[in-house]
Amino acid sequence: MPYLTLQPADLVVLDLAGQVVAGERRPSIEHELHLRIYQQRPDVQAVVHTHSVYASAVAATRQSIPPILDVIVDAVGGEIPCAEYAPHGSSQLAQNCWAALGSNNAVLLANHGVVAVGADLEQAYTVSQIVENAAKVYLLSHLIGKPVMLAQEVVDYEKAFMQTEYGQGTNK
Ligand SMILES: [Zn+2]
Repeated sequence: MPYLTLQPADLVVLDLAGQVVAGERRPSIEHELHLRIYQQRPDVQAVVHTHSVYASAVAATRQSIPPILDVIVDAVGGEIPCAEYAPHGSSQLAQNCWAALGSNNAVLLANHGVVAVGADLEQAYTVSQIVENAAKVYLLSHLIGKPVMLAQEVVDYEKAFMQTEYGQGTNK
């Protein structure tokens, strides 16, 4: 449905088993993709799916975005993997997305777009923006050289640092 004319009454609410509990419309064709993540990741309370341009450009090559920026590690947990291709709306896509996501916070969907997750909608949306910026930087960096990946020990250090030291204590 066109987002500009979407009304609250057009929304469809599903339970974790995929049963419609509110709303008159048919659920999104990607509801299985969202459901699978909510079923397996109790820490995830929001899933944002976009077709943003730069991330889609990388996804069109079926490549992952390596950890080339600190912020990627902080927000996503390391590399932004590209899930294997499956047609949109398919169970296979939901399966491939989940297989690539694991405990991280974002994946690219081959020839399709982005899935970002978070503890709330604000975090998931922020992650989706960081993925888009990371894709932009990754593509631009190829213009002047070969982007340098952060070493695995740096990735591990930053992940641990984000979990224990960063911020105002809300993530402890
Ligand atoms: Zn889509």
